[in-house]
Amino acid sequence: MAQLLHVVVPTPAHSTVGGTLSYSSELPYPPGTLVRVPLGRREVCGVVWETPAEDAVEALDPAQLRPVGAVLDGLPPLSAGWRQLVAFTAGYYQRSLGEVALAALPPQLRALDAVQLARRLQRKVDDAPAAPGGPAPDLSADQAQALAAIGSEPGPFLLFGATGSGKTEVYLRAVQSLMERDPQAQALVLVPEINLTPQLQARFEHRFGAGAVVALHSGMTNPQRLKSWIAAHLGRARIVLGTRMAVFASLPRLGLIVVDEEHDPSYKQQEGARYSARDLAVYRARAEGAKVVLGSATPSLESWQACDRGRYRCLEMPTRIGAGKLPAVRLVNMNHQPRGALFSPPLLDAIGQRVARGEQSLVFLNRRGYAPVLACNACDWKSECSHCSAFRVFHKIDRTLRCHHCGFTERVPRACPQCGNVDIAPVGRGTERLEEQLGELLADVRRPDGTPVRIARMDADSTRLKGALEQQLAQVHAGEVDVLVGTQMVTKGHDFRTITLVAAVNPDSALYSSDFRAPERLFSLLMQAAGRAGRDAARAAASEMWVQTFSPEHPLFAALKKHDYPAFAEQQLRERRQAAMPPFAYQALLRAEARTQEVAQAFLQSAADAGPGLEGGGHVVIYAPVPMTVQRVANVERAQLLLECGSRPALQAFLAAWQPVLQGLRVRGLIRWAIDVDPLVI
Ligand code: ADP
Ligand code: ZN
Ligand code: ZN
Repeated sequence: MAQLLHVVVPTPAHSTVGGTLSYSSELPYPPGTLVRVPLGRREVCGVVWETPAEDAVEALDPAQLRPVGAVLDGLPPLSAGWRQLVAFTAGYYQRSLGEVALAALPPQLRALDAVQLARRLQRKVDDAPAAPGGPAPDLSADQAQALAAIGSEPGPFLLFGATGSGKTEVYLRAVQSLMERDPQAQALVLVPEINLTPQLQARFEHRFGAGAVVALHSGMTNPQRLKSWIAAHLGRARIVLGTRMAVFASLPRLGLIVVDEEHDPSYKQQEGARYSARDLAVYRARAEGAKVVLGSATPSLESWQACDRGRYRCLEMPTRIGAGKLPAVRLVNMNHQPRGALFSPPLLDAIGQRVARGEQSLVFLNRRGYAPVLACNACDWKSECSHCSAFRVFHKIDRTLRCHHCGFTERVPRACPQCGNVDIAPVGRGTERLEEQLGELLADVRRPDGTPVRIARMDADSTRLKGALEQQLAQVHAGEVDVLVGTQMVTKGHDFRTITLVAAVNPDSALYSSDFRAPERLFSLLMQAAGRAGRDAARAAASEMWVQTFSPEHPLFAALKKHDYPAFAEQQLRERRQAAMPPFAYQALLRAEARTQEVAQAFLQSAADAGPGLEGGGHVVIYAPVPMTVQRVANVERAQLLLECGSRPALQAFLAAWQPVLQGLRVRGLIRWAIDVDPLVI
């Protein structure tokens, strides 16, 4: 007799097919089985799901349904834990189950038929045993204490450790003790950006053997991703090391999740289902009975407050290994420096001295390109993008004007397109210009062997080509660069041992940003950057972090000078509490895109008007529709609507009730809309 199968299939974001589709099958297959099913005129990959609760299902007659196609029963079914994570993600972030489920699988798996899969699974695997690799150092007292807590308490844990305090060693040991307790167990280690932390993978492979560790991130080819995914799914891989997408890896024996640099904004997906991999890691660990360790020197205020409330357990590691001191912080009051100077004379002098001593410096500015704007000195022409409400950035290297929002690129005009004046000039500075000016300013400085200074630049432009980043990092490590100039990319993760000076050239904009999270991001950026200096204990004493600012009296800098994250967090949380901002309130955004701003806002207004009558509507504050900061990108107008609520469950209930209303709204000219739950950027 034919069976009824409920299958989750890839569905568009706002399709009314919220749940499963029904098919018939000769044999029963358990939930989690991968199948190929007809959908319209296509055949797609789907996942067998549990029977939905609705009564309607009862009435279905298998004989009336289309049959499933191939069944990929060479693979064990996806676990109940995995299905629960997917269902939670879809519900919490307001996306369809099918979209989330299929996006969580490697692209190549979705395309394979049963024969191809069988061939894949037969492929011989290099069964390198998870042999104990390199020796582990003796733990510091802080590390031992943290590890003991992780072993004996339920968590979740926030490992609050200074840069260089040995957090990674704690992760390694936590994984090791998990494996000792349960030789079959698996660990998931999440990192913000794998390219920036090649040392981390090397350390795990060295400790546990290369065969035990697989990587999972978007920089891999599809065949590589499938290979890693299968190894994890079959339980062969002991450790999965990956970026945010890896939170959805299939791990049948998951025992531990580590989220390194848990404060990093890249854990939040910014398109499709806008999930937070950190938050999902905490959810997944609890649901599957695994432990979770969030690590950072500058935790997110959300996690910090969760410790305050006793929801997370805070494990502190204040001291750097080898007693390397954190660098002294020097604030340069730019109000007292020559006007318009990019580099203040004292900073320039300090960099020059480092070069002369054969030490390295790291200088960063959060703007790539040569100058953010090119302007005419005779009329009011500026290098605006014709498709976006933004300026195109001047890149001197290839003499182009490039829009960093839509990519629109043109050669720099010979004369002003508006008045013909040939005197058009760059306004403001980017990393290219920084590199050029530093070269001029340090032209007379000599290295210990009498040769001129060597300056290199590292940013999204210089690292665009494959392998370029690795090559540049290797150059810095090999001591072939004296001054490294770049965007905040240079401040992340690398273990540059001989850098003794780090400088933030112009970080002020974050102090006065309309984004309430800007100070939090700046503080963590500066603390991370400071952590790059003086990793080598022998040089640590002479290490310095320089900050040029027009607001040296800002409380953020007072906390920075003392490397006092708790003081900073306390001050910020006080402000957030007074203003009823996250983490004291919960937010969601409704974003709309249309050909005109009027249409986008009309959609949002109708959505807002429908709000008060809905479940939970009385608890949710619905703000007025506003244009987004960069209002137009690639000729599409963008607007958004902010929701705020003191209770997460009330906000969730409201969003669930709102979703069908939004789907029913018909506004002519609307291109698309999306909900962002717990948005990071507002
Ligand atoms: P974090 O992740 O907190 O920045 P790491 O784990 O990378 O710190 O440790 C910083 C440095 O100290 C690394 O070079 C690491 O090998 C070393 N280290 C960590 N723990 C110990 C220890 N217990 N004994 C000796 N060296 C250690
Ligand atoms: Zn002009
Ligand atoms: Zn543009």
